[in-house]
Amino acid sequence: MAIQLVSTAAQLRAESARLLTQKGGTSQGLVPTMGALHEGHARLARTAVGQNDVVVASIFVNPLQFGEAVDLERYPRTLEADMALLDAEGVDLVFAPSADEVYPGGEPVVRITAGPLGGKWEGASRPGHFDGALTVVAKLLHFGMPGTGLSGGGGLPAYRAYFGQKDAQQLALVKRMVEDLNFPVEIVPVPIVRSEEGLALSSRNRFLSAEEREAALVLSRALLLVEARANAHVPLDLESAQALVESQPLVELDYFDVVDPRTLEPLAENCKDTPFRGEGLAIIAARVGPVRLIDNVPLDS
Ligand code: AMP
Repeated sequence: MAIQLVSTAAQLRAESARLLTQKGGTSQGLVPTMGALHEGHARLARTAVGQNDVVVASIFVNPLQFGEAVDLERYPRTLEADMALLDAEGVDLVFAPSADEVYPGGEPVVRITAGPLGGKWEGASRPGHFDGALTVVAKLLHFGMPGTGLSGGGGLPAYRAYFGQKDAQQLALVKRMVEDLNFPVEIVPVPIVRSEEGLALSSRNRFLSAEEREAALVLSRALLLVEARANAHVPLDLESAQALVESQPLVELDYFDVVDPRTLEPLAENCKDTPFRGEGLAIIAARVGPVRLIDNVPLDS
C-alpha cells in the first residue's frame, strides 16, 4: 500500500484509525523526526514496521527547540526524498504538520520542563533546548496515539514510539517524561547507524567539507578506544582518548565523559584507576567547522 501524507492532527487520527481497522491491527508505532532523513532514520522506521501493524512517521522542524533562528532556517528540508525513504521501509502514514497546526495558539504557555537532567551536557550549551524538544515530543506522542478501530477482542492497541540512541540525552529525557508523567506509550531505543568509516549519521553532516568530515572521524575513534578498554577490563584512560580528539585541529571538543545512561551523571571518577565495571555511556560533543556533532557508545562490562 502506498504511503500517505497528512498535515493535520484530525487527518492523522482518522487515517490511522482507518488503517488499524482495515488491517485488523492491534499496534501502532510512531517515529518522530525532523526530516532530512538518512539511514539512521530508516533504521527507526524499519524497526517500527517490524513491530507494529500501523506505522506513522512525523516530520516537523520544531521552532521551540532551536536557539538560533539561523540554525532553524538552514535546517535541511527534503520532503519528497523523505517520503520515498519512508515508503521503501513500509511506513503507512507521514504526518508533516505546519507550525500553526502544532502550535495553533502561538507559543505554548504551559510546557514540559526537562529539569536538571536537561541542563547538563547538550543542555548546557543549548539553553531551553530540551524543554522545547520534550514539549513537542509530548505533543507528537499525543497526535500519534492509536485511535479506535480495534478489530474485536477489546483492549487498547499497543502504542510504541522509536528514538535513536544517537541523541542519548533526548532518549533519557523522553523515557523519564513518559515514566514520570505516565504517558501510555512504550519508548523503544534504536542503536546508532554510522557511515562505513564510523561517523554517526546526522542530517547536519551535509554541512561538513570533505576535510571536516575526515577530521570528525576522531570522535568515534575516541569512543571506540574507550569501549575497547571497557571490554578489555582495563582502566578507561579517558585522558589519552581525549588527547586524541584534541590533537585534531579542525575539532573543537566540548565534552567527553563516561556517564550513567539513565541519570547522565559522570562515572569516570569511579573507573579512573580501576577496570570499568557495570553499565555506562561514553559521550562526546564537538564543533567541527560549522556543525556541532554528538556521538556516544554504550559500555557494558
Ligand atoms: P532528528 O530528525 O535528527 O530529530 O532525529 C529523529 C530521530 O532519529 C531521533 O530519535 C534520532 O535519535 C534518530 N537518529 C538520528 N540520527 C541517527 C543515527 N545515526 N542512528 C540512529 N538514530 C538516529
